[in-house]
Amino acid sequence: MRNAVILGSGCAGWTAALYLARANLKPLVLTGAQTGGLLTTTSIVENFPGFPQGVDGTALMSQMMEQAQKFGAEVEFGVTADEVIFGKPAHKIRAGNRTIETRTLIVSTGAGHRHLDVPGEKELETKGVTYCATCDGALPMFRNQPLVVVGGGDSACEEATFLTRFASTVYLVHRRDQLRASRIMAERALGNAKIKPVWNSVVESVEGLAQGKVTGVKLKDTATGKSSVLPCAGVFVAIGHVPNTKIFAGKLRMDEAGYLQLGPGSRTNVEGVFGAGDCADRVYRQAITAAGMGCMAAIDAERYLAG
Ligand code: NAP
Repeated sequence: MRNAVILGSGCAGWTAALYLARANLKPLVLTGAQTGGLLTTTSIVENFPGFPQGVDGTALMSQMMEQAQKFGAEVEFGVTADEVIFGKPAHKIRAGNRTIETRTLIVSTGAGHRHLDVPGEKELETKGVTYCATCDGALPMFRNQPLVVVGGGDSACEEATFLTRFASTVYLVHRRDQLRASRIMAERALGNAKIKPVWNSVVESVEGLAQGKVTGVKLKDTATGKSSVLPCAGVFVAIGHVPNTKIFAGKLRMDEAGYLQLGPGSRTNVEGVFGAGDCADRVYRQAITAAGMGCMAAIDAERYLAG
């Protein structure tokens, strides 16, 4: 039986692994499908303390992994938990055809991209609809073309700014007339001559089914109720995230949106099970806060084991 298993390999997971490894508890990290988590889909992280020049998201995650491994954390890449059966003295994690038993479990499964849920979105995914500018922005199909970014938060502003390197014009489509993004990100985006905001507009559908690729988005003006088509070659959806906690529904305490509810500290409602990072944080959702939560979960798990 293991002392500690960590689900997820974002900032929270690696930090928990580092602390538990240094406590000599030989944690096992199941990385999930995307090693390094969502931060590996961003470009330069400018607000992680200690990096005045910024740091590449993927590089930061691999350094965190290396640091955890240096102290003895074990890692299984690409492994995702299908089910967890809580019990005493062991929680059982089913992953594929294996079962892993552990005294403590840290759930740091992060969050995934929220979808628009409009006609054409699913059908045209990889044919012009994408959720990651860093991953897909440089594709030939988007070069010198008009592109649409949907959303008004930091992600939308970051994606729009990044895409100006490739696009002829970037339309930033937002459902209100004011961005939610932090001031610095909003000013950077709105100050870019290539970015044109489209206010008070919601996407009704993604166009291009007949052509087999995105040709535009149908927008509805929320003020006038009028619909119009905005031609574009790509739709970058950046409207927030949903926590990856589906397998814990009905088992771990969570809010209506699926974020784990913790406390005291990082404890969930199940003994020996702790939560950390974006799957348990609907407020801050920063790399640094996830790392801090990973540290808290590791310390709580360590004390639980000692007790
Ligand atoms: P977010 O802050 O939750 O913003 C989501 C945006 O999408 C909001 O503007 C929201 O509109 C809009 N939206 C939500 N559902 C929608 C729908 N169904 N249709 C149309 N629009 C919809 O998400 P985020 O931008 O991904 O940021 C998440 C967290 O990561 C934040 O805490 C952010 O600060 C952080 N982040 C930081 C950085 C950075 O500092 N470098 C970069 C990226 C993200 P409303 O405004 O009307 O609600």
